[in-house]
This record gives sequence, C-alpha cells and structure tokens, in this order.
Amino acid sequence: MSKARLLRLSAAIAAAMVAAAAAAAPSAQAGQQSQQSQQQQPSSPVAYRAAVLHFTGDPSAGGQSYEYYEDGVLLVGADGKVKAVGPAGTVLSNHQNVQVVDYRGRLIVPGFIDSHVHYPQTEMIGSFGEQLLEWLNTYTFPTEKQFGNKDYAKGVARTFVNELVKNGTTTALVMATVHPESVDALFEEAAKRNMRLIAGKVMMDRNAPDYLLDTAQTSYADSKTLINRWHKRGRALYAVTPRFAPTSTPEQLTMAGKLLQEYPDVYMHTHLSENKGEIAWVQELFPSSTGYLNVYDSFGLSRKRSVYAHGVHLRDDEFASLAKTGSAIAFCPTSNLFLGSGLFDLQAAEKHGVKVGMGTDVGAGTSFSALRTMGEAYKVIQLHKAFTDNPAEKKPLTALKSFYLSTLGAARALDLDDRIGSFKAGNEADFVVLNPNATELLKFRSARATSLEEKLFVLQTLGDDRTVERTYIMGKGQ
Ligand SMILES: [Zn+2]
Repeated sequence: MSKARLLRLSAAIAAAMVAAAAAAAPSAQAGQQSQQSQQQQPSSPVAYRAAVLHFTGDPSAGGQSYEYYEDGVLLVGADGKVKAVGPAGTVLSNHQNVQVVDYRGRLIVPGFIDSHVHYPQTEMIGSFGEQLLEWLNTYTFPTEKQFGNKDYAKGVARTFVNELVKNGTTTALVMATVHPESVDALFEEAAKRNMRLIAGKVMMDRNAPDYLLDTAQTSYADSKTLINRWHKRGRALYAVTPRFAPTSTPEQLTMAGKLLQEYPDVYMHTHLSENKGEIAWVQELFPSSTGYLNVYDSFGLSRKRSVYAHGVHLRDDEFASLAKTGSAIAFCPTSNLFLGSGLFDLQAAEKHGVKVGMGTDVGAGTSFSALRTMGEAYKVIQLHKAFTDNPAEKKPLTALKSFYLSTLGAARALDLDDRIGSFKAGNEADFVVLNPNATELLKFRSARATSLEEKLFVLQTLGDDRTVERTYIMGKGQ
C-alpha cells in the first residue's frame, strides 16, 4: 500500500472517531514533519495536503482570478520550488511514492509579502500620541541612532526576522537606518533562513539630527558598496532608499537617481504623500515642483521596481503618473490609522492601473501580521467610503482582494511575480499553513462560514500570528 493511501486510510479512521480527534490527527503528523525539516531540506519532493488557495490574477479585474482546491496538494521539489498544485487525487496519482505531509483542515496560501516595513522600529511599535513629523522626531530618530552598532542591529534584526516568520511573512521590502552596518545585520539574519528580502540603507542628509545624517557623496558611496555586497547574493535584493523628500537635498536625490541608472535592476523605496503637513513641507522645500511625486520624478526615481509607501493624499494626475512609470504603492492601513494620516483610496489606484501591495509599516504600523493588516485595510476602505463625496461608487474591500494584495499583488508591485506570490510551477516555494481553528472564537465562527470568501474574511478579521501554524521558505519548514 502506498504511503499516500496509508495516510488517507489513517485519516479516515480518525474521522470515524470523535471530531476533535480527527482535527488533531493532521496536527500530529505535521508535527513529526516539523522536527525533520527543521534539521534539513527534504531530499525528494514533498506533497503538502490541505485546502490550497493562490491567485492567478487581480480579483478586481473580473474573470477567474484564483485557484482553490478544497482537498488540494502543493507539491514542492527538493530544490525548494513548486512542482505542481491541484486537487489531491490528481497530483498524488501523478506523483506516486512522494512523502505526504497531511495538513487537512488547514489552508495553504503563498507566503505573505510585506511591501513596506522598518526593521529598526520593531522596538518602538506602539509609541503614543504623535502624527508623522513629530513622531519621527520624538520616537524614530532617537531609536535609529543605535543602529550604528552592528551587534545592536543584529539583535533587533533577529527579532524582526523571527516576527516575520511567525506571522507567515516570507518576503519584505525593508528600510534599515542610515548606517550601512544596519543593512549588513539584516541581510545576514535573512540569509540564515534563505529569505527573499529587499532592503537598503536610508539616505538622509538634512532635516534630521546630526547623528543620523550622511551626505550626498557618502550616501552614494555606501549604497554602492552595499549593492555590490548584497544585491542578488542568495535571495537578497537591494533598494536605493531615500527616506522621504524632506530629508534629502536635491544633491542627494540626484545621487539616488544616479545609482538607479548605474544599477537598473535594484529597487527604489521611499515614502510619498502620507500626511498633509508633510506634503506642504515638501512644497516649501522644493518650490518649483508641481507636487510631491513630481519631486521624485524630476530626479528620475519613478520606474518599475520603485515602491512608494502610503500615497494617501495623491491627486488624479499623480496616480496617472505612477501608472505610467510602472511605480507601485505600498498600502499600509494600520499605520495610516495609528498616525491618523488619512484613508488610502484603493479604488482610485485601481482605476488608474497603479500596482499596489499591502504593507505593515511597523513601527507606525501596529502589527507584523498580514492577517491583522488585511482586517484593518477593510476598515480603512469602509471609512473612506463613508467620508468620500461619491460613496455610491465605492465598494467594500473583499477578502479575496486583500489576500491578493498580500501575495500575488504585492509580488507584482515588487516585480517578483515570476518567482514568488503564487504557486505557479517553478516558483520559489514560500508558503504558509493557516489554521482556521487556531482560537476558540475562530473555530466557532469558521464552522459557520459557508463560502471561501466568508472563510477568508473571518480569517482576516479574527486571525493573527496564532493562526499561522507553520511558515515554509523555499520548501523548508521554519
Ligand atoms: Zn514607513
């Protein structure tokens, strides 16, 4: 009898017993697998059996946008890449004698992608009482000062990467600090887990305390060294990272543009139109610009792989310009709510064809959890509808769309959809096992959910890191 049939039989026997025992059975088998794969990469393909969901398109675009297999299998090769996905019966009969890890009762989705986060701010998440500009001066800058000390940075980087994994996040676009050491510390920690991580040294040569300032020249030279050291080393990718227009001189933004010209396949990562006071300040600092985005555009910073965090207060012509240049926005709902910055107009971004990925923006964001972030995104869109001039035109954010924005949508925003974000054969097998029965309330509520959409909506409304049973990076259980 094949191993797969044996597992099916044992599950059937368990199902014939009490319901609780049946629910516990997959957990026990998965637990054994945990021990093994923590020690080594599987040496032959492994079939992960569960409900499996991944996206093939944007749910807002109409048409079929996802594949869902209630009893599905994700087959991962020994090379850590996706070999196949589909109904369990089909995949297992096409690939006999593979090891089966039984996660029935769970949901497997692609690893979550965080499109904007600050790792040094892990230690200041939940800081009280300020909006953006005061918040930077009061909390952020004094915190970031410490990251010139590599050992200190390593300690925080370790906690940060652990939190990502605990929350099912397998890729993030990360701001470090102005110190090159802070970037080394983060990439070294991510490399231990073979994580696809994008990060960069913050460029900042004015309007911050002296202890955090670089210069146009040193920021150029340090970024260049870091690009040569880290970009495409393993799964690491580099992002040229001016913090935001107010903390860079025109000379420094010119240098950022120069780096993008010299290294066309690196990323550009900054903030845009988060807060109204910030927008007015940018206009004062760059009086000849026609708007906030125009500042970045005029230094050649907008193009594919340019990711702008927030974009809460963009004009129509700015959305159109982002679409034209192929730039992306990171939508960071918990941060927008926490700092009181405003409510992102997701439908305007959609209407203009701007790529959007979901971001946590920790530490202005209040959770590392993609599920919590999706739950708050729903509320942001509801509030936006309530306060807009044309509420009838605004639709609620569906759970399918928010799961898309945290997986394939974010991969598209980061120009990585040929490698991550879905279970297309050949993709890197980063995935997460979610347990819809992780808490008593989740179990109670999930049992009453009748459609996939409702199950996902309940998961994002009530779920958090407890819902993440296991995170896999390149097929390796973490
Ligand atoms: Zn940010």
